[in-house]
Amino acid sequence: MVSQHQAQAAGLGYAARRAKLREAVFGGKNPPDALLIVNAGNLFYLTGFTGSFGALLLAPDEARFLTGGIYATQAQGEVADLPILVNPTLKEFGETVAETAQALGVRTLGVENTVSVAWLQGMRKPMRKVGIRLKPAGAPVDKLRRVKDADEIAHLRAAAQLADATFEHIQRLFQPDIAEWDIAMEIDFYLRRQGAYPAFETIAVSGERSALPHGKPSERRLQNGDFVTVDFGARLNGYCSDLTRTVVIGSASPEQRKIYTAVLDALNRAIDAIRPGVKGKQVDALARKTLDGYGLADYFGHGLGHSLGIAVHDGAGLSFRDKKPLEAGMALTVEPGVYVPGLGGVRIEQDVLVTDNGCELLTHAPVELLEFRY
Ligand code: ZN
Ligand code: ZN
Repeated sequence: MVSQHQAQAAGLGYAARRAKLREAVFGGKNPPDALLIVNAGNLFYLTGFTGSFGALLLAPDEARFLTGGIYATQAQGEVADLPILVNPTLKEFGETVAETAQALGVRTLGVENTVSVAWLQGMRKPMRKVGIRLKPAGAPVDKLRRVKDADEIAHLRAAAQLADATFEHIQRLFQPDIAEWDIAMEIDFYLRRQGAYPAFETIAVSGERSALPHGKPSERRLQNGDFVTVDFGARLNGYCSDLTRTVVIGSASPEQRKIYTAVLDALNRAIDAIRPGVKGKQVDALARKTLDGYGLADYFGHGLGHSLGIAVHDGAGLSFRDKKPLEAGMALTVEPGVYVPGLGGVRIEQDVLVTDNGCELLTHAPVELLEFRY
């Protein structure tokens, strides 16, 4: 249950985010008269609405939240501090949005660059009818979402804590004859029982299959000598965590130990390097250089990490593409991996929060090599 006090406090948080967005959009050159937001994650960020269908019309001094009849009651509860308009049954949503914008005196309406071509085509006609011009507005909400505020950090911490607890819970299943999909199901079941959802399709791969970075859990049963990699996350109160651990069933071979040591070294060096001002791609390069020292860089075929937030891949992170300096308040995954076809793979993934002078771990499950001997 959310108390009245909590709801009001959260409402203040949404209003503050909208104020920042207004500053970014309407304070710039040639601003549109209003901005239309339809992306579900952005609506949640700006209003608290958890449904999949709605629109926020944001003008410099006015705002309207629009949704369909299916969310009428839900929106009243979640969007506490904005006028809500429910689209009449049998009327195109685009027409209601267009007429509402017209009533606010809007002539040019900014739209996010994440809308689909089909959505844009459907919007053109009703907008033309009321004389409103649509204008590309970039991705101003995504930009704001890069740096997390205090409410978001609290939710990210809770989601990371739940991922840690889930890893602790499933350790009893790291034994011969347990199937990969039994591990995956137990992870999902545990998350759901704690009031969360899996943040993405849970990965549990073993033996040679652990060399598949995004492998689907199969009926394969664990055997002595296997690497087992689990990669999962909790979506709790709308915010995601993302945790990977690789363990060994039985005793690790010298080769397995070498790979694990290399990945752990890359992880630790990367985490030590994360601080405001450093570019994501520099941290990625450092992890690659570390693996190169072990002769394993060629087996690391993905970026070092991504942003975490309302989405599990919440924007720029730690890959060769990320050229912008990191900022305090960014939440990131750090997940180096080495995947050797025919042998298996190791990935270790931590979630971190960039602080003023470094970063803080959000996930705390053990990272040293765990061997489950029976
Ligand atoms: Zn992951
Ligand atoms: Zn990840």
